[in-house]
Amino acid sequence: MDKSLYMEEALKEAYKAYNKGETPIGAVIVKDGEIIARAHNLTEELSDSTAHAEILAIRQASEKLGGWRLINCDLYVTMEPCIMCSGAIINSRIKNVIIGTRHIKNSKMERQHEFKIDYFRDNNVEVTFGVLEDECSHILQEFFRALRIKY
Ligand SMILES: [Zn+2]
Repeated sequence: MDKSLYMEEALKEAYKAYNKGETPIGAVIVKDGEIIARAHNLTEELSDSTAHAEILAIRQASEKLGGWRLINCDLYVTMEPCIMCSGAIINSRIKNVIIGTRHIKNSKMERQHEFKIDYFRDNNVEVTFGVLEDECSHILQEFFRALRIKY
């Protein structure tokens, strides 16, 4: 199946987060062509700073597979994972990470981006950027624009 079809599913999760006032990021985990986990950010709802879409999806997938090693699994996420989630992705043995859009660019994020690229590479995780980039970036822009108007 085409990568963009799985990213569409991650985007649907991002929209669920958007509609709850959560940072609109979604993730799905795919094994053998099948989506085995899907999640969106729930940091506000769960009052949990670690409740990022990727972490929640990894927990679901581990439960489903009955173990923490997500061998031959691919993770699709609408925005570049943070350092915490990058660590969780590596620890869970996910093979491929497919990313919609990068973090909003500034010098701090640029340094972190470079670090993450090396971190993934050193741990044999393949990373693909820019799948449905415009759509994934659009929802984030809308969310942050609305916040600026509100506050
Ligand atoms: Zn994260």
